[in-house]
Amino acid sequence: MPKLSDRVGTFTDSVIRRMTRICNKYGAINLSQGFPDWEPPKEMLDSLAKTAYTGPHQYAITFGAKNFRDAVCAKQGKAIGREIDPEKEIVITCGSTESMMCAMMTICNPGDKVMVFSPFYENYGADAILSGASPIYIPLVPPTYDYDIKLIEQGFKDGAKAIVICNPSNPCGKVFKKEELLEICNLAVKYDAYVVTDEVYEHIVFDPYKHVYASGLPGMFDHVITCNSLSKTYSITGWRLGYLIGPEDVVDGARKVHDFLTVGAAAPLQEAATQAFLLPDEYYDELKEKYTHKRNRFLEGLDEAGLKHNVPQGSYFVMVDISNFLELEQFKGWSDLEFCEWVIKNIGVAAVPGSSFFREPINNLIRFHFARSDEVLEEAIRRLKKMAQLVK
Ligand code: GLN
Repeated sequence: MPKLSDRVGTFTDSVIRRMTRICNKYGAINLSQGFPDWEPPKEMLDSLAKTAYTGPHQYAITFGAKNFRDAVCAKQGKAIGREIDPEKEIVITCGSTESMMCAMMTICNPGDKVMVFSPFYENYGADAILSGASPIYIPLVPPTYDYDIKLIEQGFKDGAKAIVICNPSNPCGKVFKKEELLEICNLAVKYDAYVVTDEVYEHIVFDPYKHVYASGLPGMFDHVITCNSLSKTYSITGWRLGYLIGPEDVVDGARKVHDFLTVGAAAPLQEAATQAFLLPDEYYDELKEKYTHKRNRFLEGLDEAGLKHNVPQGSYFVMVDISNFLELEQFKGWSDLEFCEWVIKNIGVAAVPGSSFFREPINNLIRFHFARSDEVLEEAIRRLKKMAQLVK
């Protein structure tokens, strides 16, 4: 058989999405790949139904339908306290996944360095490889997930072109404080580099933490490339609607990359999703309340089971420490992946092995998500309590 590219040999498929396939095979409760199990807002569904008959069904403008771009820019402009020009400063993409790839392809030449926090959302590793960049990993050290700013300055001194910040962070739930973003952004300006943010969990932030937009910090708009999506905020992960916002030159490049990668995001879905931006502020308050309730109940369930975990400040993920399971004779020498597969088959709950997020050889953490109905979470807690009996 003719040989494949070296490129595809340098990374694996997504472990997150692989866990979903294994989970489905065994009929387990999926707390691995994070997506909600409830309906999107009715206004969007009604519009989707209507759009089926009124269209559009042909291509939207490649960088996004005008009404959709206008709506995104109005909402995000208000959030960052600066007008965003829908003609020059945004490109609509197929999810934030594509935005991130566009950002990397736009700013990186082969051999360029990009700083990525570890643990990181696994796509960033593949994004770096596909764009030819080599990652410099900056540890976010568990259990607090703090970082050492000196390592970031060193990364910039070593020539890093950009730093990727997932805020709120997947998988560790860290919400970057304003002072943290300021110190990182100031370094990016000092070393003339970009800050690339992934802010898909912007509205899933728990009190007393607040989401701060890096692009809204004084003087930062020209240095920040914001990747975001509607997936989590409106519970439409399957619609694949995202966007990249940034300074004009960057967006100009990103629009070209996007044009040849995907041509455009689905036109009827852009039309229906425009309704999302008419939702009142209470929608976002209720979303936060809903996730706060789920986080609190799931963490309480983990506590009842006696499972050790971090307390996420944002996002819908929690890391559970499995060290004492791995000390049992039954699991001696096992990887976290093997452990997760065992949990799917024997306990009926799916998690993601932490090693797929960490650069460091960390094998004792697994990630659960809690974007599930209360009933499903209760059943998952019941099963995890059974699992915890093993180490009682
Ligand atoms: N962001 C979600 C997760 O980390 C879903 C990822 C995906 O499959 N696109 O689980």
